[in-house]
Amino acid sequence: MRAAVRELRKAGKTIGLVPTMGALHAGHISLVQRAKRDCDVAVTTIFVNPTQFAPHEDLQKYPRTLENDLDLLAGAECELAFVPSAQEIYPPGATTFVEPPAVASPLEGVCRPGHFRGVATIVLKLFNIIPADVAYFGQKDFQQALVIRRMSSDLNIPTRIEICPIVREPDGLALSSRNVYLSPEQRAEAPILSRSLREVAAAIASGAIKAPSDARQEFLNRFAAASLARLDYFEIVDSATLEALQSFTGKVPRLIAAAFFGKTRLIDNVGLPQD
Ligand code: AMP
Repeated sequence: MRAAVRELRKAGKTIGLVPTMGALHAGHISLVQRAKRDCDVAVTTIFVNPTQFAPHEDLQKYPRTLENDLDLLAGAECELAFVPSAQEIYPPGATTFVEPPAVASPLEGVCRPGHFRGVATIVLKLFNIIPADVAYFGQKDFQQALVIRRMSSDLNIPTRIEICPIVREPDGLALSSRNVYLSPEQRAEAPILSRSLREVAAAIASGAIKAPSDARQEFLNRFAAASLARLDYFEIVDSATLEALQSFTGKVPRLIAAAFFGKTRLIDNVGLPQD
């Protein structure tokens, strides 16, 4: 991969990098398409990164669909795929990690201790292996995108970070590799997450809801209709810092939530409609 990238750079080609954990879907492919649009060559990485999973999480069970992934990448005319082994990325004795920035602390940082340490570490490693001009991340993982932006700026990483919109199913459910875990009943109920977020965001934008505390109650009321779900968190945060908002004045709010449908944990977020 290093040799291939060196050759491309020598030939003056610009490189767009799309890091993924595989089990690719149209959300991932939208990032590849964006990379193809902006850069001469798209490189997609597929690596189920063990260091971002907590011991009780779904590392072993995480969906692995390499053949289909490579077909999808070929269909999107992605020039290069990098599919390293865990040994290659973390050889025995590898003990250096990135301490993630403060924006990694709330939300997912509370629910998934160590997660962003693993994310920041693998992303920095991928940036070092594949010195791309631009790297593409999805807004679906809103906090992750902020963590990577901050890390890149704090560590003087020359790769530009682009954050791309969330691709959704027609019923609003954000595409996720984890959606395959959902039973038909859970899948039928899952759009309540995006719907509740969207409806509360619309009510804030229209002025019908004037305080974050009211927005929170409204979300909880709506989400209570989900009989198969358990809310992990819902917060209305400053979209730059992820600090919980006490008032909407002068802020760009982001509504962000995580919920379990059975054992499957889904995350989603929305801005206000005019964003
Ligand atoms: P993952 O393989 O889940 O780690 O995701 C790899 C990249 O794809 C991350 O930057 C995600 O934010 C992005 N991504 C995942 N799902 C979506 C989606 N539904 N829409 C847009 N980007 C997504």
